Amino acid sequence: MEMYFCPLFSGSSGNALFCQYGYTRLLIDAGKPGRAIEEALRSIGVDPGTLSGILVTHEHSDHIQGVGVLARRHGLPVYATSGTWLGMEGKIGKIPPELRREFYAGRDFYLGDLGVVSFPIPHDAQEPVGFRLYGGNLSVSTATDLGCFTREVYDQIAGSSLILLESNHDPDMLRRNPHYSSALKARILGERGHLSNESCAKALRALVNAGTGTVLLGHLSGENNTPELAMRVNTDYLGLEDIQPGRDVTLNVAQRDTRGPVYIIRETHSAPGSRQQVTEPSSE
Ligand SMILES: [Zn+2]
Ligand SMILES: [Zn+2]
Repeated sequence: MEMYFCPLFSGSSGNALFCQYGYTRLLIDAGKPGRAIEEALRSIGVDPGTLSGILVTHEHSDHIQGVGVLARRHGLPVYATSGTWLGMEGKIGKIPPELRREFYAGRDFYLGDLGVVSFPIPHDAQEPVGFRLYGGNLSVSTATDLGCFTREVYDQIAGSSLILLESNHDPDMLRRNPHYSSALKARILGERGHLSNESCAKALRALVNAGTGTVLLGHLSGENNTPELAMRVNTDYLGLEDIQPGRDVTLNVAQRDTRGPVYIIRETHSAPGSRQQVTEPSSE
């Protein structure tokens, strides 16, 4: 069976990711207005009412803006840690009790056909998590909103078929940015802030060496990064070990305001131990 993954939105102004395996369709985060997410879903042929639920990483507004609207309008259960519920409850409107689901970070559960593994991430929220979603032997991981790339995060996502990895900012662009207060700069650069292009590149290299074939750079800052710069820093770093995007790994940027293509992840049965294959069809 195939797994499908589509970054609908990824960036500091809003995040929503779609994942499907078998009959189970999930959103990870809904950090844009409900209408925008519905439109993006319909553009890939997914009726929002057919979703099995929304997984929430943490309570920052770029991850929850549309959660309440979508949950109420389509009767979707919302899954979050108790800390995240605490942080978001006052911001997303009333969620009917039957749609309110709580999970423990680090304790796996099944949601239909998808196995959900969550793990703590170093970020300045109440109880933030990253996710690894399993469909059979295939898996997709998200690791964004990370102040630093820890060993624990590496252990959780290494070997995933596809990873969405944060490449948030260029530290020099951020330091020079006149629109950001020094407190905000310190927050982003801190251990519980966001991952720079350089830190992402180091993590990326380790993850590619561990067998991941497709990595999407995500959660880019609109002011302190560009897709070209993120790609260049990451590509240059891979090049030090003669790893070439396009040849050895598929490396793309998940766009901030334009939905990405649907990635189809399938098992290859050709040779024992061969890597899982991810194909990227046309956007439709
Ligand atoms: Zn965020
Ligand atoms: Zn955040």
